[in-house]
Amino acid sequence: MMNRRTFISKAAPLALAPGSLGFAASNASKNPAADPIVSDGPLLKRELFTSPVIIESLDLFERDGTWFVRARSTDGAEGWAVSHDKKMPLFYPIFLKVVAPHMIGKDARDIDQLVDSVFLIGSNYKMQGQPFWVPVASAEFAILDLLGRIANQPVGELLGGIRRQQIPLYIANNHREYGAEESLKRIVESVESIDAKAVKFKLGGRMKVIDQVPRRTERLIPMVADALGDRCTLYADANSSYVNADKAIAIGRLLQSNGYSFYEEPCPFDYLEETKKVADALEIPIAWGEQESSQWRFKWMIENGGAQIPQPDIIYYGGLIRSLRVAKWAERRGLDCTPHISGGGLGFLYMAIYASCCPNPGPFQEYKGVNRSFPWESPGVDFKIEKGLMPAPLGPGIGIDIDPDFLKQARQVQ
Ligand SMILES: [Mg+2]
Repeated sequence: MMNRRTFISKAAPLALAPGSLGFAASNASKNPAADPIVSDGPLLKRELFTSPVIIESLDLFERDGTWFVRARSTDGAEGWAVSHDKKMPLFYPIFLKVVAPHMIGKDARDIDQLVDSVFLIGSNYKMQGQPFWVPVASAEFAILDLLGRIANQPVGELLGGIRRQQIPLYIANNHREYGAEESLKRIVESVESIDAKAVKFKLGGRMKVIDQVPRRTERLIPMVADALGDRCTLYADANSSYVNADKAIAIGRLLQSNGYSFYEEPCPFDYLEETKKVADALEIPIAWGEQESSQWRFKWMIENGGAQIPQPDIIYYGGLIRSLRVAKWAERRGLDCTPHISGGGLGFLYMAIYASCCPNPGPFQEYKGVNRSFPWESPGVDFKIEKGLMPAPLGPGIGIDIDPDFLKQARQVQ
């Protein structure tokens, strides 16, 4: 287990020498008023594009419960994204009335600035949260696909460069309704299903302290360690269960003594003070952030030791660029930034793009399955999950092609 001391020893020299990390030159230290969100410069490699890519349209389509975004440029190039299938039906008016109108007519090469300016204009920031950021992420994914197809490069290359071609996975489990024995059986089966080298399962009661099945948490922690500890990295997720830090710390000590490698959301996700108390009391890294929509709260939690593994959700948090900025803040502290992924849609693919280009994604990425509910193919890549690995998307754009005949039959949402 990488313990807190390892983190501190990794972090100390980095904290003293931020300029040594290979980021674009920062203006933030010279001008304290500079906006740190953009002061590192854009992530997008503009040099891959010789002329403007003007966004002509951003349109929304739905078929069989899947929500698609199409970005078109004025010279006829096209990019596609798949949005969150449960959230977009709720939030699509914000996409149609706020996000798309702001981006149409702009240069897609300014995508780094567009995800900030859409937040600031018209007091849109007052809508911060999933209802705002899911539509922004959906537009960003389609625009990045458009840019990648124009440059004939994978999105991971556009956003910093491909660093890995295989993504090691941890398989996520959710069996709170079962007792410890049945949970263990299902957890072991999930590991074997993809030969995973890492696994995560749920503790506590999800936003409440008491387990659905009494004492499941205390029993399951050592049982999973006994069954899988010699072949898997072990993670546990409390989903905001413990309002009281004392209880959260007691569970954390049990995780530590059983060799677990992170402890996710021990306290209510927005109870930062109590989460930090838990982090301060334990050696095991605290993972946190899947509900977070504020860049400043991420920054505060990273810089003040409230969490050691930030976990922005790439869709809930507003896309790849914003998530990769969190990773930069984490990298400056010698920490990993391992995103939470939304199941459904193409959440698995956006995770793989992130992990393909992020310098510090952590050793394993969250895996909840591959979505085959609509037809797509990955030219040149045998997209199989085996030996606990997912192939990085290396084709142009997002690396997959959605069947155009299927898309032709989708209804346009207006
Ligand atoms: Mg979680």
